[in-house]
Amino acid sequence: MLLDPCLASEVPEASSQRGLNGSTASLGVLMGHCFRRSSGRGWRLRQRSMALWPNWVSQLDHPSSPLSLQTPLVQLAASAEEAERMRQLAQVRRERGLQFLEEPALPSAQTPWPRTGHGALLSEQDGRVDPLGLLRALRRAFKAQGGTLRSTSAQHLERSSAGGNGRWRVVTAAGDSLRVDAVVICSALGSAPLLEPLGHPRPMEAVLGQVLELKRQDSQASWEHWPAVLTCGGINLIPHGERQLWLGATVEPGSEANPSLLPAMQTLNNLAPQWLHDTERVGQWHGLRARPQGRPAPLLEQLEPGLILASGHYRNGVLLAPASAEWVSQQIDGSILTAP
Ligand SMILES: Cc1cc2nc3c(=O)[nH]c(=O)nc-3n(C[C@H](O)[C@H](O)[C@H](O)COP(=O)(O)OP(=O)(O)OC[C@H]3O[C@@H](n4cnc5c(N)ncnc54)[C@H](O)[C@@H]3O)c2cc1C
Repeated sequence: MLLDPCLASEVPEASSQRGLNGSTASLGVLMGHCFRRSSGRGWRLRQRSMALWPNWVSQLDHPSSPLSLQTPLVQLAASAEEAERMRQLAQVRRERGLQFLEEPALPSAQTPWPRTGHGALLSEQDGRVDPLGLLRALRRAFKAQGGTLRSTSAQHLERSSAGGNGRWRVVTAAGDSLRVDAVVICSALGSAPLLEPLGHPRPMEAVLGQVLELKRQDSQASWEHWPAVLTCGGINLIPHGERQLWLGATVEPGSEANPSLLPAMQTLNNLAPQWLHDTERVGQWHGLRARPQGRPAPLLEQLEPGLILASGHYRNGVLLAPASAEWVSQQIDGSILTAP
């Protein structure tokens, strides 16, 4: 059973909303193969996710909830030093689809890319998945497998002293008391209040992200030679439809959106080509990321038998969804096998 107060509504159109949860606000960028590091937990989770994504998409894709992986991803080098690091990375990860594009080789198409003058890293297998499409597809698949969705929040959790089935009791805002063998807490900023009373402090802070939806005004609009995602100075440009693109996201500690950060984002800190300056703002939204305090993201822990935490994914929750879900399923299998 899945509990979430947000289930009351169908997955919303992001551009029609202002404050959203992390997944609904997300841009769905999957930057796995071009991750700088090549060791550690973060790298392993990314590698596992990127290996699982194609299978996830083919299993979740359905006429009523279509899903696809959009590739490739291009990252512009911000400096000569970064270009050199990218060249080296491309050399060792050639078989993973990485290639360094020297500045003169960048396409000079109808719709010019922003240019830094230092070239760019092309990653054939990185890109994005549509997060709203993913949420729809996951809900459909969950229901098709007999899962129940309940539009309510978990108010608190209790260890159940009674024997038999169910070592945890979940009390919901709707007044139900559910006895279960395992609870998976994946409620982002709503996770800590459930865990604190059980003696498992896992504080998290909100880091807000704003996204702009822009419409091109030029009569010859075309996205020919554009990748699925182009990243410039940490800002993602994501073409969609004939004339539109999403641009984001800001990284703002706290939960209040600061509108004064938007002009610098829209002009890519002075690297925007003229057509981007001329775009019209047709939508915008923001959402909150949950960042663990004092621990690296994400939090993947079995805190007690049957008490599983999969939260605090901060900036990479969509990318890491398959690897996190796989870890959770292994914990559930183990925990149900050891249930009294
Ligand atoms: C603007 C923006 C852009 C982003 N872009 C990317 C990107 O390109 N790629 C990427 O990988 N990641 C991106 N992220 C990060 C990513 O969106 C998050 O890491 C991810 O969505 C977290 O998923 P989640 O399910 O843990 O949390 P959320 O999606 O925030 O969901 C938590 C849910 O828990 C529910 N909840 C809270 N309390 C309770 C309770 N007591 N009981 C029941 N339910 C509860 C809430 O209603 C909410 O629906 C972005 C985030 C933002 C804000």
